[in-house]
Amino acid sequence: MTYDSPAFKPRNIAVAGRELALAWGDGHESYLPFDDLRAGCPCSLCRGHREAPKDPLRVVTAPARGQIAIRSLVPVGAYAVQIVWSDGHDTGIYSFESLRKVCPCPTCRAEGGLS
Ligand SMILES: [Zn+2]
Ligand SMILES: [Zn+2]
Repeated sequence: MTYDSPAFKPRNIAVAGRELALAWGDGHESYLPFDDLRAGCPCSLCRGHREAPKDPLRVVTAPARGQIAIRSLVPVGAYAVQIVWSDGHDTGIYSFESLRKVCPCPTCRAEGGLS
């Protein structure tokens, strides 16, 4: 698949319960749980936390699972969306390609190797 593939272009994005629902240009649908999206936040702040060595004194800023929600979605160009979380964290910009690649549905998981 190329970067311009309809598979990476959502026709619709909506919040459904505690999941982000994406309807893709190729007809596929993805339901991404908030907790997994936040855990995979691509911003440098969150990446730094995940990659930092374990330090018991470090204050954990990541919210507990089940506590976080999406406050709003901000389109970023034609290729990404910025997620504003209920705790005010808003530096994570998620490319559509990366969202498609973390689709947890059995079909995408079976294909493997996509990520
Ligand atoms: Zn982040
Ligand atoms: Zn899928």
